[in-house]
Amino acid sequence: IRTIGVMTSGGDAPGMNAAIRAVARACAYYNVKCIGFYRGYQGMIEGDYTVMNARSVRNIISRGGTILKSARSVDFKTPEGRKKAADQLKEIGVEAMVLIGGDGTFRGGQIFSEEYDIPVIGVPGTIDNDIAGTNYTIGYDTALNTVISAIDKIRDTASSHNRLFFVEVMGRDAGFIALNSGVGAGAEEILIPEEDLGLDRLLESLKRSKRSGKSSSIVVVSEGDKTGKNVYELADYVTENLPDYEVRVTVLGHMQRGGSPSCFDRTLASRLCVKAVELLLDGEKNVMVGIINNEITATSFDDGLREGHEINKELLRISDILST
Ligand code: ADP
Repeated sequence: IRTIGVMTSGGDAPGMNAAIRAVARACAYYNVKCIGFYRGYQGMIEGDYTVMNARSVRNIISRGGTILKSARSVDFKTPEGRKKAADQLKEIGVEAMVLIGGDGTFRGGQIFSEEYDIPVIGVPGTIDNDIAGTNYTIGYDTALNTVISAIDKIRDTASSHNRLFFVEVMGRDAGFIALNSGVGAGAEEILIPEEDLGLDRLLESLKRSKRSGKSSSIVVVSEGDKTGKNVYELADYVTENLPDYEVRVTVLGHMQRGGSPSCFDRTLASRLCVKAVELLLDGEKNVMVGIINNEITATSFDDGLREGHEINKELLRISDILST
C-alpha cells in the first residue's frame, strides 16, 4: 500500500484531531502517502481532499473538533454514492482508508468494503462510548470531564437555593455518559436507557434525600432514558408530586462534544491510529481497532458492532450506596 486515506465522519468528538495527526504521522513514518478527505463520506464522493504530511498536522493534538470536518452523508447510503466514492479513490490513487467515527460510519465502511476491494479500518471516535469492540471510544473521557465540571457548577447554585436540578446529558441510546458522570459528580439519581427504575422509585429517593437533610439534589438524565418522559416532563412530574421541591432543568447539549481532548483521549487516539495504519500495511482489512483490557485489538465490524455492549450496572449500586 502506497497511499492511505483518512476521514472523520458522523458525530464529532474531542480527540478526532489527535487521531488524524496520528494517522498522518504514522504514514509519514512508514513512507506512505496520506490523503485527508473532508466531511466524511461526502468528501470521498466529491473528491474533496488534501494531501497530508507530517507537518500538516502540527499543533492539532490539543484541539477539539476535527480539521477535516465531519458530516452525515445521505449519498453514501446509496449504491450510486458508494460507487462514486470508490471511483474517486481509484482516481486519486488511495488504496486503503482509515475511517474515524461511530457505529454508522463503521456500518458504511463495512458495506463499502464488501462491495469494493478497498481495505478499510475503523477507529472508534464518539463521545457516546456505544461500540462493543472497544472498552473506550475517543472523545468519551473528555465528554465525561466536561459533564462533571458542568455539574459541579450546577451543584454550587443548586445548594445555594436548596434546589433540585435535572441535568440532561448526551449518549444517544446508551447510558455510559450519564452513569459515569453521575457517579463522578455525586448525583443523587441517574436515569439511563438500560435500566428503567420507574418514577415511583425516583420520587421515593428524592423524598429520602430531602428527609436526610440534603441541601440540593442532582438527577442526571441520559437523553435516551426510558421513563417515557423527557427531562422537562420529568421536572413537571416531580414538581406536581413533591411540591416542596424547587425544580430546575439544564440540558448540557453540544458543549459535551467540544473542548480540548483529555490526555486519555489523546493517548487512546494515538495508539489506535498507529495500529490502524500498521494493520493496513500488514494486509489487514475490514476490522475496527479498539482497546480491550488495555490492549490494542482488532475486531471484525460484525463483532465490534454487536448489540448489547453493556454498561457497568455495578455503578448503579455504587451510586445508590453513595447517595444516601
Ligand atoms: P456515527 O458514525 O457517529 O454513528 P452516523 O450514524 O450519522 O454517525 O453515520 C455516519 C455516516 O455513515 C452516515 O452519514 C452515512 O453516510 C454512513 N452510513 C451510516 N449507516 C450506513 C449504512 N447502513 N450504509 C451506508 N452508509 C452508512
